[in-house]
Amino acid sequence: MAACLIALGSNLGDRTATLDAAIAALSATAGVQVVRCSAWQLTLPVGGRRAQPEFFNGAALIETSRGAADFHALLQQIEVQLGRQRHERWGDRTLDLDLLLYGDAVIDSPALTVPHPRMSFRHFVLEPAVQIAAPMVHPEIGWTLERLLEHLDGGADCVALVAPSATARRELAAALRERFGLTEGAPSIADERLWPTSSTAWLTVPDGQMSSEHPKLTILLDSPTASEAGRGPTLQIPPTKGDNADREIFAAIAAVWPRLGSRGDQRLQ
Ligand code: ATP
Ligand code: CA
Ligand code: CA
Repeated sequence: MAACLIALGSNLGDRTATLDAAIAALSATAGVQVVRCSAWQLTLPVGGRRAQPEFFNGAALIETSRGAADFHALLQQIEVQLGRQRHERWGDRTLDLDLLLYGDAVIDSPALTVPHPRMSFRHFVLEPAVQIAAPMVHPEIGWTLERLLEHLDGGADCVALVAPSATARRELAAALRERFGLTEGAPSIADERLWPTSSTAWLTVPDGQMSSEHPKLTILLDSPTASEAGRGPTLQIPPTKGDNADREIFAAIAAVWPRLGSRGDQRLQ
């Protein structure tokens, strides 16, 4: 049996009824037991050019005898049963079921990445997850979910941008200055093992707090061998991401600092 954690979201139709129906469908499936379920939380829109209906989000802790791929296929099947149509990424949906954690497994296959690659910096994922599974550990970062969520409130309001190429760092830093009004600036002391001076650019959020020396967000750009261990909320951008990289990075920053989101056009679920 594996203990796994899923995230649920809905912003179309009767949203809470759909989330309830998803839990009922999981409970009715052989080899799946719903251990705990969070309250459904209304997530205010992060802002953006395109108005989107608000989401209800939640999380559930599941015990299952199914393998990870099989369990993920089940989640997708329930999404379709409850009216999910796939149009665009991060688009409106009746139901979104994401597999956040599957025990302490680390999986990177074309159809499935576990832990979910964007869970460590999303309030709307971590808040309900902490309600029901605060001590669960993110196996790559090595932090509990509770610590990740606390860090999104208490960490330093800056981004550590780790990339082997100085040009890539410079270009991305320029894009983030332009889009979000970030400025150059590092915490007074930063852990050299996690953010080596030779490959890290620092950007700070206007009017942010720097009482911690640990950034709220680390972006690992084209650093396939870099580990997430100990870094806290992290976005990994592999070299293959190409043009999608900027969109992914902008969305992550809007998730960590919702007030900056209104300067961009990214809404993400
Ligand atoms: P996000 O993943 O940023 O929350 P999303 O939920 O809107 O965005 P979807 O359109 O639902 O993204 O899914 C895109 C693809 O992600 C799916 O084809 C699915 O196979 C894949 N995927 C990879 N890893 C996971 C995971 N851990 N949980 C759910 N889907 C995953
Ligand atoms: Ca999804
Ligand atoms: Ca999602």
